[in-house]
Amino acid sequence: MFIPEKFRYKTACVLGLGASGVACANLLRDRGFEVLVSDSGKGAAPARAARSLRKGIAFETGGHSAKVLQAGFIVKSPGIDPRIAIFRLAARKGIPVFSEVETALALGRAPRVWAVTGTNGKTTTTALLAAVAREAGLRCHAAGNIGPPVSSAAAAARPGDLMVLEVSSYQLEDSSAFAPEVSVHLNITPDHMDHHGSMRSYMAAKLKASRAQTRSDVCVYNADDARLKRLLRSVRAKKLGFSLADRRQEAFFDGSRIRFRLGRKVLAAAPPALLGKHNIQNAMAAGLGDLSHGIALAAVQRAFRKFKGIAHRLESVAVKSARTFINDSKATNVDSTQVALRALEPLNQNILLILGGLHKGVPYRGLLPLLRKRVRLIFAIGKAAPLIRRELGPAVRRAGTLRRAVQWSYRLSRPGEIILLSPACASFDQFRNFEHRGEAFKALVRGL
Ligand code: ADP
Repeated sequence: MFIPEKFRYKTACVLGLGASGVACANLLRDRGFEVLVSDSGKGAAPARAARSLRKGIAFETGGHSAKVLQAGFIVKSPGIDPRIAIFRLAARKGIPVFSEVETALALGRAPRVWAVTGTNGKTTTTALLAAVAREAGLRCHAAGNIGPPVSSAAAAARPGDLMVLEVSSYQLEDSSAFAPEVSVHLNITPDHMDHHGSMRSYMAAKLKASRAQTRSDVCVYNADDARLKRLLRSVRAKKLGFSLADRRQEAFFDGSRIRFRLGRKVLAAAPPALLGKHNIQNAMAAGLGDLSHGIALAAVQRAFRKFKGIAHRLESVAVKSARTFINDSKATNVDSTQVALRALEPLNQNILLILGGLHKGVPYRGLLPLLRKRVRLIFAIGKAAPLIRRELGPAVRRAGTLRRAVQWSYRLSRPGEIILLSPACASFDQFRNFEHRGEAFKALVRGL
């Protein structure tokens, strides 16, 4: 556990010059530490990032030198592989390693922390939790994977502010004493196996959001997820379950409204106007988290009513000549595309689907049962296009670029149909990231 006083006169070494590494280095510097930042990357990107470092912070790029091993402690950015040599060497010298999250929280002045974890739905749920808290008049900082690094939020937070954090398994795996007032567990399915090595270590990382919680804390969890339920058995915090079907849980969906059971009272709220059952789950999770800490139902209802969803997640872009364009660029894996197709089912409209990008190793055949239902045409783009065609059949048209896919699908579409970008692939072969891909899609649609 990082206790700032214990390391007061030691040098901090922050590994990684990403956004969170830079923010954490600056926060440490502001709190009076000597800081070295070390990044293994070469070229313009780390040099550019280093420009955002405060005066007086030392940095090195292109590798981790022996200077790292002179530090009193190391702060590890979430993206860095824990198996690289420098960590072995540091362990041999007895240099402790802390995560960016726990370092930031220890240096911040806001003692109230809520954390959202899960394989899918984290960003949406974090945004909803924060929206409700703000609606209730709390000063609230949403940070972590959702955007601003935890260190930036910790630097800005005043005593009594609430920090709502979206935490990934990467951020949790190095945290030893992370104990949020509220932890939210949405679901757990295999993901990031390349990084964690096994489902077991992935689950162990996720559990860290709740393992250090005490009886006075709250753990909100998806009671429909059997694996998650087993994982959380040993948690001491007060557990509040949500379910799409089970009316015994503290939150459940009755088919039209969300019901929250708190003590003897059952309160109801209309879910936000978003597509898909998954978003009802996200809303139940957020509502429970907020209500468990005394926030009024009226704030939940108002925030749900105002919530319009988050960009690149089943985002309605435009209706042109009676064709609806939907941007789901965040669907970077097959699972997410399935979620999107299921969410659109109740609309009973034909879909022209744009798939492709950088292949992530999971077969596309899993999409077939859903594709047969409402998907009339498929346009494949990027590196994965040949593979998609091989797996999904000759009906797949190879569009190559997103531009061609948008124009071609528009030309072949009929009134009343949906043109959906839900690529099931990473974006890095043709775009900087999924946001870039989504923005490009929106610009292309506007230009039609
Ligand atoms: P994350 O931050 O965990 O990636 P997001 O809120 O950004 O999650 O949603 C990403 C995608 O994950 C969505 O477009 C949707 O396909 C899927 N998703 C969202 N919420 C859930 C959920 N509760 N269960 C399953 N899938 C979900």
